[in-house]
Amino acid sequence: MKTLEGLVISERDSGETGKSVTLLTRELGCIDVYVRGGRKSNKSVSSTQLFCYAVFSLEEKRGADNTTRYYYNSSEPIQLFYNIRLDAKRMALACYFAELLLFAAESSENADEVMRLTLNTLHFLNKGDRSELLLKSIFELRLLCETGFRPNLIGCCHCYRPEDDEMHFNLRSGNLECHDCVTSDDAMYDYIFDKTMLHIVRFIALVEYERLFNFKISEKYQKQLSAFTEDFAQYHYGKKFQKLRFYKML
Ligand SMILES: [Zn+2]
Repeated sequence: MKTLEGLVISERDSGETGKSVTLLTRELGCIDVYVRGGRKSNKSVSSTQLFCYAVFSLEEKRGADNTTRYYYNSSEPIQLFYNIRLDAKRMALACYFAELLLFAAESSENADEVMRLTLNTLHFLNKGDRSELLLKSIFELRLLCETGFRPNLIGCCHCYRPEDDEMHFNLRSGNLECHDCVTSDDAMYDYIFDKTMLHIVRFIALVEYERLFNFKISEKYQKQLSAFTEDFAQYHYGKKFQKLRFYKML
């Protein structure tokens, strides 16, 4: 038997009455758990629905191919994020986060930080006192940072100048270049950051979690930031996300 905290980030039917859920965990990254009779049993329903965070007690079984399979035994809910479920738009955004997580967090590497980012983001989305678009940008950029794609934003990669009126960040090379050093290769992948924008992107990529959600930005910068973080996620994960399209339609 294994006891661990997990967040349900996906659920699907399995067999006649059962279902499978994917849990995001600190110890093991993402794991699939089979819930016997999960579509009928009231006992397991609340803790195995989407975005429930709970302590799960699981049976472990070793399969013929030597992989470990997990079966649901019991659970104790910690946080149900109830307000997210009540609002179609917030639910759609949370589903996009889940889609990114399923794509990004397969390995258990850095799963602790990924879990922390996810729970914090859902906490503020549930509470409803932060801009949804800002939460989306923070989650996109910081998730990439925690899963191995943190950009080098210290200064121009040629002359080390820390800031300039215009700094060019190249999505493809991952390089930051000042106006004097910028090369025109791959210019179509360039994002031009002014001082404020560079500060915002650095802040999201590097600041400690206690401060990560405690800032506001103007509509003008939110627009630039949204375009950048969306492209950044799509470029590195190499795919367009269905749930993002759905969120934008609402
Ligand atoms: Zn330079």
